[in-house]
Amino acid sequence: VKKVDTVVLDTLKERLKEIFGYSQFRGEQEVIIQNILLGKNTFVIMPTGAGKSLCYQLPALVSDGLTIVISPLIALMKNQVDQLTAFGINAQFLNSTLTKAEMTRVKTDALDGSLKLLYIAPESLTKEDNLDFLKKVKISFVAIDEAHCISEWGHDFRPEYRRIYGIIENIGNLPIIALTATATPKVQQDIRKNLQMEEAETFKSSFNRKNLYYEIRPKKDVKKQLIRYVRNNKGKSGIVYCLSRKTVEEVAELLTVNDVRALPYHAGLDSNTRMANQDAFLNEEADVIVATIAFGMGIDKPDVRFVIHYDVPKSLEGYYQETGRAGRDGLEGNCLMFYSYEDIQKLEKFNKDKTVTERDNARHLLNEMVAYSTLGVCRRRQLLSYFGEYFEKDCGFCDNCIKPTEKTKVQDDVILVLKAVQLTEQRFDADHIADLLTATENQYVKSYEHDQLEVYGKGLELNESRDYWVSAIRQLVIFNYLEKDIENYGVIKLGEKGANYLNDPYPVTLHKDHNFDEEEVKPEDD
Ligand code: ADP
Ligand code: ZN
Repeated sequence: VKKVDTVVLDTLKERLKEIFGYSQFRGEQEVIIQNILLGKNTFVIMPTGAGKSLCYQLPALVSDGLTIVISPLIALMKNQVDQLTAFGINAQFLNSTLTKAEMTRVKTDALDGSLKLLYIAPESLTKEDNLDFLKKVKISFVAIDEAHCISEWGHDFRPEYRRIYGIIENIGNLPIIALTATATPKVQQDIRKNLQMEEAETFKSSFNRKNLYYEIRPKKDVKKQLIRYVRNNKGKSGIVYCLSRKTVEEVAELLTVNDVRALPYHAGLDSNTRMANQDAFLNEEADVIVATIAFGMGIDKPDVRFVIHYDVPKSLEGYYQETGRAGRDGLEGNCLMFYSYEDIQKLEKFNKDKTVTERDNARHLLNEMVAYSTLGVCRRRQLLSYFGEYFEKDCGFCDNCIKPTEKTKVQDDVILVLKAVQLTEQRFDADHIADLLTATENQYVKSYEHDQLEVYGKGLELNESRDYWVSAIRQLVIFNYLEKDIENYGVIKLGEKGANYLNDPYPVTLHKDHNFDEEEVKPEDD
């Protein structure tokens, strides 16, 4: 542990006020800053907008030397550098867009100690001459922003991110602060392992966004459904996410001819149009922006009242970030997704050209998306469970809470599932357990001699449907009776609550899955 002037630690609040003009720390910002100032590795998991940047900016300014900030996108870097410059702070970035003269200036400022924060992309970090130069500079610590890019199990894997640790080690033994707004427990573990910071203290704030209403509707006659929804929300700010540029154009057009002030946004538009459309949305000259996922990074419009997913997104991580752009001001925020299995099949087709690992991962992410959409369990409980947070009660503020599917209280079913997990030594996934309970043909059930177990085929006496059991297992994970094994993807273990349950069982409410083919689209739902 580094020796830090206690005066520095005690006066952080004053420095916060002096430099940024804020009078209070938000959430755990102060302890996080103290942790990194003490030279300890630090892991920060906070939702977007919670104030992660300050967690490395302030300590950078009160430390001797230069802080390196690794960030994946040039646009994000530029944004931050502009903001810091406005506060009178010497912050710069190093990337391939710089001229030779700019590059020289960055290096001179870094070497003479006047530069406080240097933003750099992982690609630039690994360049030989940058590395040689960084070795000569006094560096206080390294901040790794969007740290989930390290993990193949996330939705935004960047291979270069996996090389960061080697470089940091090469530069010197520097403390690391890793930050992300999106990481499942599996991804969190991957980040720790890759950065060799298993001991790092983790600061994770709740991901619950209380004011957001989550809803999924069957995608049947989606154009009409969309128009009706947007008209019923006339004058309100909203984002409509579509999968392709072509759909973006069509939907923007469709809304426009229906008297909605809508504009398109996607990476295929020239940058002037894109900026103009974004500005029009921010300045309320347009109510609705129809966009691909290219839209939203770094955009802070507090009064977005609805986020619509016109197409099913590729992952829950993406979905959660995109819906997170609604209701930033804590007021109304409606998150509506249109779901159809055809969308899932479309997304599966995109995976054809990927490598085996990429394809496997994309498929896992998509399976989670399907489960989220079809389960009848409180959406908030599902989402929070996905990001590793156990939410005890139904939220009362999502479609599954307000218009629940059929519910049943079961006890024998729960006992049977938990027993099956226990008897198979907590080493198998939901499919395996469901096959075992329903005596469905499965070579592994045979080869592990699970057909000899007392629970083999026993599920059939209670419910003949294999899908029922898969759903029950998923629900029991959300209710914390079962846990996901973070070492082995898909493997289900008995949680502490589950173990206690077997000693002292009681009825548990399970929810029937949605069957979107049968569900009707009701105009009065709006
Ligand atoms: P994140 O990186 O977690 O998405 P940001 O770092 O961009 O969030 O912060 C979101 C907003 O909150 C910014 O406008 C930032 O200036 C503001 N902010 C951060 N910390 C504080 C604070 N302690 N007091 C007031 N505003 C803050
Ligand atoms: Zn709910």
